[in-house]
Amino acid sequence: MSINQKKLPIYSFFKCVEKNFDKASQFLDYDKGILKQIKICNAVYQIFFPIKWDNEIKVIEAYRVQHSQHKLPCKGGIRFSPTVNQDEVIALAALMTYKCAIVNIPFGGSKGGIKIDPRIPDEFKEKLIRRYTSELIKKNFIGAGIDVPAPDYGTGEQEMSWILDTFISLNPGDINALACVTGKPISQGGVRGRKEATGLGVFYGIREICNLKKEMNNLGLEVGLEGKRVIIQGLGNVGYHTAKFLYESGAIIIALAEREGAIYNPKGFNIEEVMNHLKENKSILNFVGAKNIKNTLEALEIECDILIPAALENVINSENAQRIKAKIIAEAANGPLTIEADEILNKKGTLIIPDIYLNAGGVTVSYFEWLKNISHVRHGRMERRFNEIKNFKIFQSIEKISGKKISEYEKNILLHSPDEIDLVYSGLEDTMRNSFYELLYIKKYKNIENLRIAAFALAIQKIYNSYQILGIFP
Ligand code: GLU
Repeated sequence: MSINQKKLPIYSFFKCVEKNFDKASQFLDYDKGILKQIKICNAVYQIFFPIKWDNEIKVIEAYRVQHSQHKLPCKGGIRFSPTVNQDEVIALAALMTYKCAIVNIPFGGSKGGIKIDPRIPDEFKEKLIRRYTSELIKKNFIGAGIDVPAPDYGTGEQEMSWILDTFISLNPGDINALACVTGKPISQGGVRGRKEATGLGVFYGIREICNLKKEMNNLGLEVGLEGKRVIIQGLGNVGYHTAKFLYESGAIIIALAEREGAIYNPKGFNIEEVMNHLKENKSILNFVGAKNIKNTLEALEIECDILIPAALENVINSENAQRIKAKIIAEAANGPLTIEADEILNKKGTLIIPDIYLNAGGVTVSYFEWLKNISHVRHGRMERRFNEIKNFKIFQSIEKISGKKISEYEKNILLHSPDEIDLVYSGLEDTMRNSFYELLYIKKYKNIENLRIAAFALAIQKIYNSYQILGIFP
């Protein structure tokens, strides 16, 4: 570590978010009062409650934070992590506000956290999440039009269905109860494609940037994903799906890092084989043909084209930033770079694709799930058969006019009318593409130095406009 780096101040996570906000505000000639209102956190609910744990009573610390209520409901995940604290949840809720704005999702930003190791047995998880939900209900902090939780670090479909069940039982007759939480199993009102949504969105975002000739030339890289050397930190839901889609597109996953250590193989990993190994051995280490790296964070410093932190915040900081050799950093996690690391890496010329754009696929598909729940109908249900019949009539006419037969293979493609999963993928891809071009546009038009500040500026612009129209409630 150089002396200069040591001198850098250490900011809290929320302070980092605020600093980025301030940098971006300088590009926008906006009313200071409204900017302040956008930046501050609207509401923090801190909860302590007791849980019977074997023969002792444990006091659990938990939070739900609504950073912005400029659009309702507020939206954001709930995490289980031993490091949960108020500053972290506020910062994550703020990132949700900006994320939703960037991808044009009409929600405010929120986040929840329960301070606990996610590896606790299911029976305690269930007790915890049900109690937490009832605390949120008591204070009117959850509901289809109020605040809608979703999965985050350490939580998934199972926890979401416990939330739903608790909510329904305490809100009898609420016709929109299903929309009180997203990321549910399909059988409980979930939407197809939600599980892989964040990873798929990360993939779409990386693909967009890798298709830009000028950017790739500047980094000395070829256009496209094929052959790009990738390192992924975190093999949870987001990391795994990101790795899967990149692998299927010809990228080479050269290193994978988990809590217990990392594995490295310059020839690349087949991600499904690694996942099977992980399931069997409860560890990614000792994977055949790979080199073990005991200190997992060292894997981030290996030379590669794309480094994808996909776990928790602050993993790249003033201590290790200088040693990062990746040409592109794709932020699948929320806040993986501290502000100091961001500055060091920008100086080095690293291309950073910011979290508030790149990992917005999760909340985008949560929005599709919420729409499905409040409309009480599966996406595509009304028009699917109609389209199939119309397509059938079109190719009957083509065959009649041309006097030629269309092959069975082509007929099957033409006949196909979108299912829910097709619509979700299409909506997600469209969202990630549109927002990417909006980002590039504001970056160029306002002459902003990097994508993160451009992303904040885009978010502020959109939220500001909604305040302009709404006015401020007196
Ligand atoms: N936890 C995810 C995120 O940080 C998803 C939030 C949601 O779907 O509401 O973006």
